[in-house]
Amino acid sequence: MAQPVSVRIPALNKDISLPTGLFINNEFVPSVDSSETLECINPSNEEVIARVVAASPKDIDRAVAAARHAFNTTWGKNCNGFQRSRLMNKLADLIERDAQELAELETLNNGKPVKVARDFDIGDSIQCIRYYAGWADKITGQTIEIEGTVKTAFTRHEPIGVCGQIIPWNYPINMMSWKIAPALATGCVIVLKPSEITPLSALKIAELVVEAGFPPGVVNIVPSLGPVGGAALAAHPDVDKVAFTGSTVTGRKIMEAAAKSNLKKVSLELGGKSPQLIFESADLDQAANWAALGICYNSGQDCTAGSRVYVQDSVYDKFMEILVSKVKATSFGDGFDDAVAGGPVVSKTQYDRVWSYIESGKAEGAKLVLGGEKRPGKGFFVDPTIFAEIRPDMKIVKEEIFGPVLSVGRFKTEEEGIKIANETTYGLGAGLHSNDASQCMRVSALLEAGSVWVNQYNLLSNNVPFGGKKQSGIGRELGSYALEEYTSVKAVHWNIGEKLEWPL
Ligand code: NAD
Repeated sequence: MAQPVSVRIPALNKDISLPTGLFINNEFVPSVDSSETLECINPSNEEVIARVVAASPKDIDRAVAAARHAFNTTWGKNCNGFQRSRLMNKLADLIERDAQELAELETLNNGKPVKVARDFDIGDSIQCIRYYAGWADKITGQTIEIEGTVKTAFTRHEPIGVCGQIIPWNYPINMMSWKIAPALATGCVIVLKPSEITPLSALKIAELVVEAGFPPGVVNIVPSLGPVGGAALAAHPDVDKVAFTGSTVTGRKIMEAAAKSNLKKVSLELGGKSPQLIFESADLDQAANWAALGICYNSGQDCTAGSRVYVQDSVYDKFMEILVSKVKATSFGDGFDDAVAGGPVVSKTQYDRVWSYIESGKAEGAKLVLGGEKRPGKGFFVDPTIFAEIRPDMKIVKEEIFGPVLSVGRFKTEEEGIKIANETTYGLGAGLHSNDASQCMRVSALLEAGSVWVNQYNLLSNNVPFGGKKQSGIGRELGSYALEEYTSVKAVHWNIGEKLEWPL
C-alpha cells in the first residue's frame, strides 16, 4: 500500500490527509516498476504541496486489467441500472458532504478561489453525477418492426467497455465528473488519468469511491505524465474508448494512437478561440459583465474563454469604457482569500506561456488597454489584460492563450461581425449580445460553434450537450448526448415465423 500523507493548508491552519498511491482495484498502490513521482505545486506561492506516485506503462496495463475484470464480473452487463444509480447517488452525497475539504484541496493545487471551487466546480459536479445517476436505469434501445408477426428487431445500447479518460488541470474535479458520470451510468469501467499538475483532488475522490461501495476495478485513477500514462492509455489494445479534454495538439496525438492501435472510439474536447459579438442594440452594461466573465472566469483558463470580443462601431467607445472599468475591478489573488474573484494561472509553464503571448501582442502592435504588467513576488499571477486595435494575423487573435488576455476588435455590419467571429480554426463557443430577437436567431444560426450563448456567456447545464466543431473536438459531453459516447448499439434481428427454403 502507498501511504497517505498529511498536507498542510497554512492559510487555514489545518491539515488534510491525502492518498498518494495509484488507485487500482479500490486500493492505493505503488508503481510496479517505477519510482517516479509527480510534484504538486501551490501556484499561489510556488511551494511543493505533495508528491504522488506516477504511473508507468506497466501500471496502466495493471489498471486496464483491473477495469476489464470488473467489467466482466461485477459491472458492465452484471449490474443493473438501479444498482449503478444507487452507487452514483451515494458518491454524489459523499462529495457533497466533503465539498469544503475538496474545494480547499482544489484551491491548494489549482489556485482557484475556494468559494468558486466549492459552489461552482464541486456543486456542478455533484449535480452532474446525480443527473447521470438518473439516466442509469433509463438506457434503452428501440424495437423495430420488420415484417408483422414474422420478423422483428431490437437494439441494445450496451456499455462500450473499458474507458481511458484523460483530463486537464483547469477544472480537475469538474472534468473528472463529466467523464466518470456518463461512463458509470452506462455500465462502463474507467481508467482515469488526471493531469500531472493537479492530481490531488481526484485521489481524494477515489477514497469516496471506496466508501460509496463501488466494486473494485470499476474506477481506477492513475496520475502520470501525459506522454507516459496518457499515451499508454490512448494506445492500449484493451481500452475500448478514450475520452480526452485538453489541447488540440495532444488531441491529435490521441486520435493517431487510437487509430494505430485498435481503432478505439474517441471523443475529444479541445481548445477554442471563442468570439463574442456586441451589437448596438445590446444592453451594454450586461454585455460588459458577460464579456468580463468570459475572460476573467477561472483566470481565463477555460476552453470556452471569450478571448475575442468584437463590438459594433456605433457603440464601441461606450462599451469599452464600461468593459475596462469592470475588468479593472476584478481582483486576482490567493484563492484562500475570500475577497478575490480569481487565482493565479496553474503552473510556471502556463505563466511563461501566457506572458509570451502578452509580449507578442505588444510586439505585434496591438494597443494595450489594461494590465500587461508583471507583479513582483511569488505566485503565477497574471492580472486581466485587454488589447484593442487588433489585426486577424496577430498571434493573440489566432491562438488559444488560456489566460486572462482579451483581444477586442470592431465591426460595422452584422455580416462583417459574423465573418470575423468565424475566422478561426476552432469552433467551441461563441456569444452574441443584442436586443433584436430576429438578429439573435439569425446570428446564432450562422456562428460556427458547438455552443452559442445569447445575452449571456459561458453558462453550462448538465442536461445540455457541450462540445466543439472544427478543430475544437469530436463528440459531445453532458446531456443525453454523452450517453452515446459510452454505448455501442447492437441490433438483434429476431425470426419469429419465417421458414427458410434452401437452396434459394
Ligand atoms: P495537454 O493537452 O498537454 O494536457 C491535457 C491532458 O493530456 C493532461 O492530462 C496531460 O497529461 C495529457 N497528455 C499530454 N500529452 C499526452 C499524450 N501524448 N498522450 C496522452 N495524453 C497526454 O495540455 P497542457 O500542456 O496541460 O496545456 C497546454 C495548452 O492546452 C493550454 O495552454 C491550453 O491552451 C490547452 N488546454 C486546453 C484545455 C481544455 O479544456 N480544452 C485544458 C488544458 C489545456
